[in-house]
Amino acid sequence: MNAFEFRSEDGAFGASISPKTLTEILESCRDFAPAETGGILVGRYNDALNCAVVTDASERPPDSRSGRTWLLRGTAGLQSWLDRLWSSSKRRYYLGEWHFHPGGAPEPSPTDIEQMGKIARSPSYECPEPVLLLVGGAAEKRSDVRVYVFLSKGGRAAPVELLAT
Ligand SMILES: [Zn+2]
Repeated sequence: MNAFEFRSEDGAFGASISPKTLTEILESCRDFAPAETGGILVGRYNDALNCAVVTDASERPPDSRSGRTWLLRGTAGLQSWLDRLWSSSKRRYYLGEWHFHPGGAPEPSPTDIEQMGKIARSPSYECPEPVLLLVGGAAEKRSDVRVYVFLSKGGRAAPVELLAT
């Protein structure tokens, strides 16, 4: 099966995600409903640096905490996993975040926008244009998934939706 492709309306930015990875994310969301859950997205940029190719998604780190409408995504195990993926021949690295809005819309909340801005500015993430994959509703249909890239505008990170192609 081909990757799912997403692109901004102006065509400037894109993302793709493997069906296997998206299936894993949706299963994890259904497992944790009605609580939020989430993790990180890993992969690489294409040669033109305008498309984030998501190859892997972490599971929910075990030190994460969440409720119906909030998530404190933990960090346990992520750095060693990232180190392994980077040192493999495929050279994969951090691309962004995924999380679930159980029963809600897959749209970034003000908290999400603030957190993605912090990630974009953080030297430790080395990811100035992070991707956010949101899952809403019952985490069952393709329309429950939306993908955003955060571009910095006037010192703030602004979400740009990437539409399914
Ligand atoms: Zn959110």
